Amino acid sequence: MGDEPRDVVVLGAGIAGTALASHLARRSLRVTVVDPRTPAAGASGRAAGIVTEQLWNEWDVAVTRESRAEYLELAKGDPETFLEAPFVRLTVNPTIAEALGHAVVRLRGWGVPVESVDADRLLDWFPAGHFAGLRGAIASRSDACVTPSTITTLYLDDARRHGAEVAFGAPVPVPEFRDRRWSVRSGPAVIRARALVVAAGAWSKSLLVGLGHPLPLTPYRTQAAVLRPPTGSTKGPAASFHDLDTDVYARPESNGRILAGDGTEWFETDPERFVAGADASFLAHLAEALGTWFPEWGGSDVVGAWAGVCTATLDRRPCIGPVDPARSLYSITGFNGFGVMRAGGAARRLAELIAAPDSATAAAALEPVLPARFGGRAPVFSPIPGFTLEGGEAPRF
Ligand SMILES: Cc1cc2nc3c(=O)[nH]c(=O)nc-3n(C[C@H](O)[C@H](O)[C@H](O)COP(=O)(O)OP(=O)(O)OC[C@H]3O[C@@H](n4cnc5c(N)ncnc54)[C@H](O)[C@@H]3O)c2cc1C
Repeated sequence: MGDEPRDVVVLGAGIAGTALASHLARRSLRVTVVDPRTPAAGASGRAAGIVTEQLWNEWDVAVTRESRAEYLELAKGDPETFLEAPFVRLTVNPTIAEALGHAVVRLRGWGVPVESVDADRLLDWFPAGHFAGLRGAIASRSDACVTPSTITTLYLDDARRHGAEVAFGAPVPVPEFRDRRWSVRSGPAVIRARALVVAAGAWSKSLLVGLGHPLPLTPYRTQAAVLRPPTGSTKGPAASFHDLDTDVYARPESNGRILAGDGTEWFETDPERFVAGADASFLAHLAEALGTWFPEWGGSDVVGAWAGVCTATLDRRPCIGPVDPARSLYSITGFNGFGVMRAGGAARRLAELIAAPDSATAAAALEPVLPARFGGRAPVFSPIPGFTLEGGEAPRF
């Protein structure tokens, strides 16, 4: 690493930090990514990778569409990295079925190709399914599943090809603002830069407190598992799904396996001290919930199971943009468990603002997620996590 001052230092090499580095470097900004661990060592290396436009507002939909296009291009046709897979939401509950009908109207108004589907249609995607009790299901066909750790690495490769520098596995960086620029010390190395970006996932909360700019962020633990349905069972699924009754979701994996999750805890976790393995109660819940729709999946082998830490915000929207404009301090965090699907588009928008800090257009492209909306307030709060059908601070489903 050279001693030349940089334009931007990005703290964190998850999918958000590396996507940002790629977008900044492509704009000819001199960027260095610093991470005391390795790329995708945080939530990005533990995520399921579902990318769906069944989201909560028009901004989310637009940003996810941008991300999807970027991931498709990065993957260069590798189905292990990017797999086209419709996303289905389903229920046995008539009240939720009614809400699904409203969601179709709302999502179509935002240009999402989503429709109600019946049990016969579901069997095309899920040959192992038993949908007798189905009361409602909707599907969006243009969705996908990605491998988040691979996308993170691909962004990083792209950033380096465009001149970005990296410092990984080094002592925890200590940023300081003096003489009108940032100075980031990591062991004996010091990197100087005009702007600093906190892209440190669940660690962002404590980093921002240390920088004197707390945001309302709560790290929380969530779990996932790769399952292998019993040998000789029917073909694996061709779509992802979210069961609104149990909150369990699953996506197709290679060789007929599935990656399923939920096991979300509704209280704060310390990303330095969380339990990285999965709980027995989570695996029992998965088996029971999956067995409702897919009786043979209830007896699946557990190939691997783990937990990761996500970051909730007070209003369930991310915090992306200037945190302290006078000192060129920015954040890209608080994805509430949905950072893979939004990272690429969100990073592109933030890179545009960092490259042109006075641009009203660049700021407007981040308007719903600007950290300034909290006015410096950072109250303690419990996370309301989950793949909810409805948006807002208190979704019913
Ligand atoms: C089980 C599970 C399933 C998920 N499924 C999905 C899904 O299907 N779809 C979806 O969109 N999202 C999903 N997510 C959420 C998604 O993983 C996150 O929203 C996303 O990965 C956040 O990326 P990030 O780059 O902000 O943070 P992270 O990936 O956590 O990266 C943060 C990085 O910051 C580094 N860091 C820490 N401290 C410092 C410091 N002081 N200085 C510099 N760097 C530091 C860490 O080492 C880490 O590498 C899931 C998450 C989990 C755990």
